[in-house]
Amino acid sequence: MDRKTKWIFRGCMMLAFCLSLTLLADAAWARCRRGWRSYRAKNGRSFCCPPGTKGYYRGYRGISCKRVARRGRRRGYRRPTRRSYRRPTRRPRFERAGYAGSLRFSFNSIQANAAVRRVKTKYFHRKRCRVVGLYGRSAQKFRSAAARINRVISSRGFSNAMHMHHRYYRRWERYNGSTKKILYHIQRRRWKVVVNSFARTRKYPCRADVANGHTNAFANLGVGFLLISKNYLNRANVRDLARTVIHEAMHTLGYSHRGLPAWRKRYNNTVPPFVGCLVKYWNNAAYRSRSAQAKIVRYCTTGGGK
Ligand SMILES: [Zn+2]
Repeated sequence: MDRKTKWIFRGCMMLAFCLSLTLLADAAWARCRRGWRSYRAKNGRSFCCPPGTKGYYRGYRGISCKRVARRGRRRGYRRPTRRSYRRPTRRPRFERAGYAGSLRFSFNSIQANAAVRRVKTKYFHRKRCRVVGLYGRSAQKFRSAAARINRVISSRGFSNAMHMHHRYYRRWERYNGSTKKILYHIQRRRWKVVVNSFARTRKYPCRADVANGHTNAFANLGVGFLLISKNYLNRANVRDLARTVIHEAMHTLGYSHRGLPAWRKRYNNTVPPFVGCLVKYWNNAAYRSRSAQAKIVRYCTTGGGK
């Protein structure tokens, strides 16, 4: 083999090598899953797009696969789509009664526990209360009162105010625990309160033989049941209603003002009236400023809680 043919042979080999390399590279960028199509970005990078989509340039180095509408599928047979099972919606038998802090109010006393049912029976028979339903506008009003209570007692300012109480009065009357414990009870612990309303008539007087001055609402100590006069509920404004509801709810949590004459200083420094007073007189400034909180606390401590 002479020198010239040798060089030609070498050239051919080189060409073949380059060609195979190019072909291999070509096969590499064209390789997608079956049914997918490959697209090339402007910088040469290859992308695969799933069936039903088309590749579009996304900047210099990318391709985005966008779904293309297929007209053929639209008419004729359509494959039924699988739907997840959805429970049929049903109107609840008892309307929602709202919540406030840790308190969960409910208008449903049928599913209540035995203690609640016992107390309800006691009111029903011994005190001759006629329990009437809470629905419509009355229920709405109760809910807005609960919403007010919730706004106030779950705020940070309220916790501050409760701790400030000791500045103006050295201790809680009729309660030996700490302020922290009270806050835990009304902000953190779950506590269900069944709410019923009564209508007072001559036949059903719903006697208020507890001498605490409260004839608009009753509650038993430590049992989550509370009874409000429907007449009062419809008449009172939301602030007053909120005060009464939280006062009675504190009774259901076990806080008492037993034996203290109403609206005197010692009475006002027991837990239920004090919290009720805070809820009633709370204002927008008190959410932010400590001085506004202090003002309300001072007012409630010194007997403004009427
Ligand atoms: Zn009370």
